[in-house]
Amino acid sequence: MQKQQEKHTKQLKKCRVLGPVATKFTGGNTGSWRLERPVVNFDACIKCGTCAMYCPTDVIEIDKNAKECVKIDYYYCKGCGICAKECPKKCISIVPERSEE
Ligand code: SF4
Ligand code: SF4
Repeated sequence: MQKQQEKHTKQLKKCRVLGPVATKFTGGNTGSWRLERPVVNFDACIKCGTCAMYCPTDVIEIDKNAKECVKIDYYYCKGCGICAKECPKKCISIVPERSEE
């Protein structure tokens, strides 16, 4: 599993060189036009880091020592939903931006 994750990480790093939305290129609030956002159910999260590996903008950090271990930088998150799709526990919900959690 670890080798597979490392392989994915290497592949993603290569892709980020080419992707126009792949990294934090500017200091501007590039998440400001987001219509939906990911919300994590921390009770179901197993801290595997898969969401962070797949996030195309690299805005997820995993802190395995914290209960709320998945930290999403909403300043840059685009609300694409890839993290929710890839989460093996399906514990990330995509909710409308202006709704209550
Ligand atoms: S929705 Fe998830 S995968 Fe997409 S940019 Fe935001 S944190 Fe990353
Ligand atoms: S992919 Fe899902 S289970 Fe894994 S760390 Fe992210 S939110 Fe938690």
